[in-house]
Amino acid sequence: MGEPVLAHMQLGAELRRALDNDEFRVVYQPIVRLDGNRVIGVEALVRWHHPGRGLVGPGDFIPAAERTGLIVPLGRFVLRETCRQAAAWLDEFGPDALKEAALNVSARQLHDPDFVSEVAKTLADSGLPCERLVLEVTESAVLRGPQVSRALHELDRMGIRLALDDFGTGESSLSLLRAFPAAIVKLDKSFVDGIEIDDGQPAAADARQAVARAVIQLAHALGLDTVAEGIESPEQVAALRELGYTLGQGFHLAEPMTADGVSRLLARQQSLQPGLVKHNGNAFGP
Ligand code: C2E
Ligand code: MG
Ligand code: MG
Repeated sequence: MGEPVLAHMQLGAELRRALDNDEFRVVYQPIVRLDGNRVIGVEALVRWHHPGRGLVGPGDFIPAAERTGLIVPLGRFVLRETCRQAAAWLDEFGPDALKEAALNVSARQLHDPDFVSEVAKTLADSGLPCERLVLEVTESAVLRGPQVSRALHELDRMGIRLALDDFGTGESSLSLLRAFPAAIVKLDKSFVDGIEIDDGQPAAADARQAVARAVIQLAHALGLDTVAEGIESPEQVAALRELGYTLGQGFHLAEPMTADGVSRLLARQQSLQPGLVKHNGNAFGP
């Protein structure tokens, strides 16, 4: 018992030091249209540039940040950075280039009584319109009681779009989707894995696709957008399109990248579509 507790305390102290030392960075993974690969949004993902250990992924420190409460200041940093960057892209590339920027919010943040007002203030400070921000929450976070539920409804009323992340892995239920003001459902990677396998046995393929099929039908019925996560091959794109998915995210489409990487992508996208809004604020559209 002693060792994990000690490791946990050390990690907590290190996270605090890292926040003070500005060791966290945000990278952005494009969210892409499955027909034609146009980037329509990004998801912000935090990274820790540890002075000794190098690049550390969120899986190795988000759980500790949640347990110690440091996720609140860390999440604040990700929120500010993402809103500032998304507003800069809006300014540079115009309203049609990138429709939305998403970021992950943990249950602990939603429990913070100041969270909603902080989001409102951050949006106002950055100049990013509410409807261009997506907050991703997991099913288990949504089910954390009336205070979280109130916060989510307030965010929804402000015009911020809420996405259910990793959908299908948690305590998914139809009533949850109805009770929660979600605008977007993100199909978890585990239901994308293997979706493309064609072994000539229709029953087996059907079973593999069952959740992906059920989720898109449900989303259509409830008027929600969908994003398929963790797409690693063109065959998966084809299978998802066949099922009716139009948006996706995954290493096959684009890996998480720096803000500069996204800027280059948007610039290239715009140069291939000369009819669209040009930057420097002037519209040369048709
Ligand atoms: P998530 O929100 O579901 O983010 C998607 C994760 O899948 C990212 O991992 C991304 O790099 C990875 N991914 C994307 N495409 C592929 C693919 O084709 N194949 C595979 N194998 N993986 C893919 P990452 O960046 O390591 O983040 C892991 C999780 O950590 C996130 O899952 C999210 O739950 C959490 N997280 C990341 N940033 C933040 C943050 O700022 N705040 C909070 N609260 N959680 C965060
Ligand atoms: Mg996410
Ligand atoms: Mg996810």
